[in-house]
Amino acid sequence: MPTLSSDDAFAEVKAKVDLVKVVQEHVRLTKRNKDFWGLCPFHQEDSPSFKVNPQMQSWYCFGCERSGDVFTFVELIEKTDKRGALQLLAERAGVELKKLSPDQRERADLRKRVLDMLKLAAQYYEYVLWKTPTGEPGRRLLESRRVGEETARRFQLGYAPAGRGFAEYLRAKQRSLADAQEAGLMRRDGTDFFAERLVIPIRDERGQALAFTARTVRADEQRKYINSPETASYIKGRVIFALDLARDEITRRGHAVLMEGQFDVITSHHFGVTNAVASSGTALTDDQVRLLKRFTDELLLVFDSDRAGRAAMRKAATLAAAHGMRTRVVILPDAKDPDEFLRAAGPDAATRWEDLVARAASGFEAGMAEDSAGLNPSNPNQVELVAGRLRDWIRQFPEGLRDGYAEAAERHTGISRHLLLRDPEPAPIPRPTNGLAGRVAGKKLSAGSYLVQLLAVRPVAFERVRPMLTPQELDQSDRAIFVRMLESYERGGPSGLEAELAGYPPEEQDLIRRAWAAPPPNVDDEVAVELAERIRLDHMKGRHSGIIRELSEAERGRDSDMVARLEAEARELGRAIQEMERRG
Ligand SMILES: [Zn+2]
Repeated sequence: MPTLSSDDAFAEVKAKVDLVKVVQEHVRLTKRNKDFWGLCPFHQEDSPSFKVNPQMQSWYCFGCERSGDVFTFVELIEKTDKRGALQLLAERAGVELKKLSPDQRERADLRKRVLDMLKLAAQYYEYVLWKTPTGEPGRRLLESRRVGEETARRFQLGYAPAGRGFAEYLRAKQRSLADAQEAGLMRRDGTDFFAERLVIPIRDERGQALAFTARTVRADEQRKYINSPETASYIKGRVIFALDLARDEITRRGHAVLMEGQFDVITSHHFGVTNAVASSGTALTDDQVRLLKRFTDELLLVFDSDRAGRAAMRKAATLAAAHGMRTRVVILPDAKDPDEFLRAAGPDAATRWEDLVARAASGFEAGMAEDSAGLNPSNPNQVELVAGRLRDWIRQFPEGLRDGYAEAAERHTGISRHLLLRDPEPAPIPRPTNGLAGRVAGKKLSAGSYLVQLLAVRPVAFERVRPMLTPQELDQSDRAIFVRMLESYERGGPSGLEAELAGYPPEEQDLIRRAWAAPPPNVDDEVAVELAERIRLDHMKGRHSGIIRELSEAERGRDSDMVARLEAEARELGRAIQEMERRG
């Protein structure tokens, strides 16, 4: 079946839409000679310096010197990317981008049904929360957190009653229970997945509910929060919580406030910090940074002050820097999280928040201060230790920033910048591994990146890999590209990747083109299967050691229920790993 390649689609859409008409929906234009003039929508001005040329179908601003065609205009004005602009304009022009196979149509249809169901569920939960006696525990929880109805409604918070309330509601409306299961809202026995919880919709940047996170209202419940499983509509690492509500204020203020918890964000909006968002259930990912970068170049990081929070802050700072974004770090005095800080500040919250923002140091400086805390410059051992830490820290930022950072660190600690920029020790030789990885080791390829390269060269191998592997089982560094390639494959079959490559982030395009030019050592389905098994095994081992770590925490905290649960989980996983290793 023929598909419209990206280039063709751009050309066809461009031929069918008129730039002047598109611009006129946002800017009042006046005709002068052949051209149209208006106030530039991309910078502040009083007299028109924004010019549209209808013959060339191009625009230019003499003030801010931005320019482009209809796609760049839509990209900037709708804060979307090239693909998003293409989609918006294609809809408008009535150009069908892809001819779908029956299989793809079914998947697209499922996604639509899941989204409809999530929307319905959000409305139902919200109704229960505010309009029924059953919603009382949810209302009490909000009251104790001092979240008012207006804020709660903006986030469309709701309450899921005990039992089968949602199932009964669907029956009354003659809707499909299967769709609700597909959407992760209902267990097989018809009970509500989120029963007795305050539910918080996780929406995309356009306000569409993709999933829920839900907080228990019961004191005796071990799991405080549970989340929707990943579904046809939801991939965790792609969504920024509250971006739909915060996007305008982010643009206006010039920065986004990135927090760890969804509830922190809700409280923040309640107290007037309406540019707050959260990375939603995962450490910050490349996709999330890219999404934020559409709206701003600066992130204000507000993370917990514990060890995990500080590590997450560092990761966010370097990840943002890798995408050319600046970060600053807000330190909360006498409070463990923003929720606590703002509630304690009460009516002064907005002013006290502004003070903190004004004092926030850069992400680099915050890490530097931590690394050099308590340094005694006359103790050579200490100096060496701190220099080592700072060297590692500086090296995590893009090369262009390092000289400046070393200089700042020299000013701060007195340690010579030359010492701080010295080359690292030679990297240790990777330990040899068995089987397939042995073959891979020579090229220093992880199983995950081997698989990605293999799939780039041989997309049809997705048929074998897809049922074996979920994206979560891949390392984070391979996950985004894997998912994107899978989606291209599902939309466009074996030629989907080639057709859609132009819409990929540049570094992924690079990687794929390199794989095409120099394919990995063995490219066939059997190797793909072997790699997928290897990745699953590694993932299970990682989870296993994670559980063992949690277990020792739980033992220390004398949490016997938790210990029993974790032990059972670890045993089961251990068995599965053994089983896999025996087979492999
Ligand atoms: Zn301008």
